[in-house]
Amino acid sequence: MSNTISLSVADADVPDLRMQNGLTSVFISTFGLAATRLADTDDQRLLTIWFLEKDQSVVGMGSVGFDLVEAPFLPAAFETQRAFMLQSTGGMTSRLGWETLSYEPNPRLLDPSIASFAALLNHVTREHLDIAAAEEWRDSCGAEELMFSGFPTCTQHKILSTVFGCHACNDR
Ligand SMILES: [Zn+2]
Repeated sequence: MSNTISLSVADADVPDLRMQNGLTSVFISTFGLAATRLADTDDQRLLTIWFLEKDQSVVGMGSVGFDLVEAPFLPAAFETQRAFMLQSTGGMTSRLGWETLSYEPNPRLLDPSIASFAALLNHVTREHLDIAAAEEWRDSCGAEELMFSGFPTCTQHKILSTVFGCHACNDR
């Protein structure tokens, strides 16, 4: 089984990113390690949490694929947020936070996925964003909850916690 990260906009000729279940979990954890360490605004932290909620240990193996336009980018801050996302993919490539993991991710498997993800990110425009999906998520996760004011992180991995806990702890 696998998961697909897509960009379902008519003019995007960039291939979908398909990953086996195990690689998907490693991808999301290493993204979380990098993004949590690089985020310096709450909207970047919220964006990171949205990706970390793609947690197969909770929602089911092979069921965390998504369309990138559904991510809760803020149209007014889109370019800054995309730069943050791309910086985070750079952090993944440079193994940011990997020393906290109990395993060694395989760059030979991970690096092509990071490159594909960055290519997808580079094709998203402000006009593509699914504003309704993003607002629905913001409403459903309740921005007033403690989690989104304190932004707790896992003590071991320093990854932002989601409603499901720490993605890397859950994947052990
Ligand atoms: Zn953890």
